[in-house]
Amino acid sequence: MTSLVTGGCGFIGSHMVDRLLSEGHDVRVIDNLSTGRLENLDHLKGHKNLSIYQMDIRNKEEIQPIFKDVDYIFHFAALADIVPSIQRPQDYYSSNVLGTFNVVECAKNTNIKKLLYAASSSCYGIPDQYPTRETAEIRPQYPYALTKRLGEETILHWGQVYGLPVITLRLFNVYGTRSRTSGTYGAVFGVFLAQKLANKPFTVVGDGTQTRDFTYVTDIVDAFYTAAMSDIKQDTFNVGSGGTYSINRLCELLGGEITNIPKRPGEPDCTFADTSKIHDVLGWEPKISFEDGVSKVLENIDYWRKAPVWTPDTIVDATEDWFKYLK
Ligand code: UDP
Repeated sequence: MTSLVTGGCGFIGSHMVDRLLSEGHDVRVIDNLSTGRLENLDHLKGHKNLSIYQMDIRNKEEIQPIFKDVDYIFHFAALADIVPSIQRPQDYYSSNVLGTFNVVECAKNTNIKKLLYAASSSCYGIPDQYPTRETAEIRPQYPYALTKRLGEETILHWGQVYGLPVITLRLFNVYGTRSRTSGTYGAVFGVFLAQKLANKPFTVVGDGTQTRDFTYVTDIVDAFYTAAMSDIKQDTFNVGSGGTYSINRLCELLGGEITNIPKRPGEPDCTFADTSKIHDVLGWEPKISFEDGVSKVLENIDYWRKAPVWTPDTIVDATEDWFKYLK
């Protein structure tokens, strides 16, 4: 079996590469290394079944040859984070929408067994119901969420029109080792881990009682692998942990001082996936508890030494456009 992983040097993509190699696949990685890091695959250096292509999914002609004779495509390459997506929407359209268009176009004339897309639970915005089902209304709140949703629609549409076997997985708050450390202010784990290493207080938004469906990265990868090997040819599934955990609980597990910063507009007080569909149809369920997942991250905390250390003041600057546009 040959698998192609776009964004394979990134957080989730690199874990996908680990899993595919352990299952005996030949793996090709496409990554432009804009936020992905070669270091994430350092432990696989010289692996005979792994090829890494430093290429950009925005360049269709360049990536096309890599799709030859591929069985499975796992499409993770994308730009993430809210604030830069408000400031630079064109970059998000070109990577997340046009890049995804290029991937499905390259896949169109091949004999792939399955194309998997990493969709975002941010498509639900602030939903009416918790846990949230796949049938909930789609309400993107900012360009990142919109462009990931447009990518998802593109994938499903190519499945429908051109007969490509496709599955989109809507991921809820993925965390784990190798989670991003890039310069932009983003996902909470990277922020808190860098603060812990620097002996600075955790910048807790609001009163910290808001909850998130934190899902461990190897569980996410297992959902992708299970979906790839299934007979399903056109569908969408939520992937979540089966629970929802407060930011205060996260701080307790990480251990450290807290400082509170203002609540941001447009943020849900809760994210919580209804995972009954993926459980019933694919038999998938998460295996890593929140406590165990946080322990694994803490064991590898040195990884975040290079991550920026955010303080309440620098967060005010970094989120200026968030408060300005999303209120
Ligand atoms: N959060 C926080 N402090 C930070 C960054 C995030 O308390 O410096 C909280 C945030 O309010 C949210 C949770 O952590 O409840 C997850 O935030 P993240 O940006 O990782 O994901 P999202 O809000 O998109 O689910």
